[in-house]
Amino acid sequence: METEVEWRRGPGNGYGYTCGCGRAVAVSTALCGSPARCECGAETRVPSLSRLRELTGRDPYEAGLMDEIRRLIRDGRLPSSGVCALSGRPTEDTVLLSVLIPRFFQDQSHRGMGKALLMTWLLGWLGFMLYQVSKKPQIEEEGAESLEIPLRLAADQAPRARELSQRRLRKLLRTEPLYARLLQENPHSRITVLG
Ligand SMILES: [Zn+2]
Repeated sequence: METEVEWRRGPGNGYGYTCGCGRAVAVSTALCGSPARCECGAETRVPSLSRLRELTGRDPYEAGLMDEIRRLIRDGRLPSSGVCALSGRPTEDTVLLSVLIPRFFQDQSHRGMGKALLMTWLLGWLGFMLYQVSKKPQIEEEGAESLEIPLRLAADQAPRARELSQRRLRKLLRTEPLYARLLQENPHSRITVLG
């Protein structure tokens, strides 16, 4: 017998619901469109992925964390805190930051390593030196995606923020849990204070 249930997000990337018997049932998105079965035997049809996203309060076409952040900014739900990330004092002000996220960073460095080995093998030490000279910067703006995010920061603190190192800027952004996740998933991103 199929029953109507309320869907929720998680655990992990999956979805879940509570069966009529009270058991929590976790469902992988691979089951979309098919019935899920609780231990008690009751079956529930799993909606399509876009319907599941809709039912659990997500944009139907939301792809990942960046899209989720964009959506929350659009809805005025980010920044979520009411205190200045630098001074810790309550404020309504925000400062816009740009986060440049290299999309193929690992692939590039992997290829780069192969090229370095090849040149060193062909030309010895000279090849290695040539590789070092010809090497492109590790973060290229082409192949990178940039995200503009508002951070809760009092207006009088903005000039100070512009002087901060990347490490300190990361620390500031980590005060917002979703930005912390973004930086954790993209450790090579570069932060710029826009205004
Ligand atoms: Zn059940």
